[in-house]
Amino acid sequence: MRLAPLTHLDALETLLLKGGHDLYSGEAVSQLEHALQAAAAAEQAGSGAALITAALLHDVGHLASRQQASDLAAGIDDHHEALAVQLLHDLFDHDVLQPIALHVAAKRYLASTEPGYLGNLSPASTCSLALQGGPMSEEEAARFCLRPNAAQAIALRRFDELAKVPNLPTPPLSHYLAIAATVMKACP
Ligand code: FE
Repeated sequence: MRLAPLTHLDALETLLLKGGHDLYSGEAVSQLEHALQAAAAAEQAGSGAALITAALLHDVGHLASRQQASDLAAGIDDHHEALAVQLLHDLFDHDVLQPIALHVAAKRYLASTEPGYLGNLSPASTCSLALQGGPMSEEEAARFCLRPNAAQAIALRRFDELAKVPNLPTPPLSHYLAIAATVMKACP
């Protein structure tokens, strides 16, 4: 699947609002709740605007692909992290894009290096991990650490895991889009 890049923040808002009320595949929250909870976790942790924006937008690839739980059950990986980068690369720089691009790899990294991490994954996330390549080998983990923004991707991954709480109040989407606007690429 090849996606046309978004060129305005308005288009991003439409995408989040239009598809955002679908359930986040296999979880008890909607896509929009998941995005807002991840952004709120990043904000509460004192993250900068780029990482808060990455947390808000890390799963927009799922919205674009509209992957369903049945796809996961059928063993289909939509490579949503790559789809998100296709959508967002005209709007944001590497400090937003790289943590998003690496947030699946960060799960594979943590699954191989952090005792107890696997046991705390949600059932849906455990299922998708297998599709995404499973825990990294030692060599893969060592190479991952050297990637630019690997630390931010790991932080994003932790915000992602926290963002699956039914009915958790968060600030509204407008609050986080205003933060995203501060780290958008300047108009050419
Ligand atoms: Fe997520």
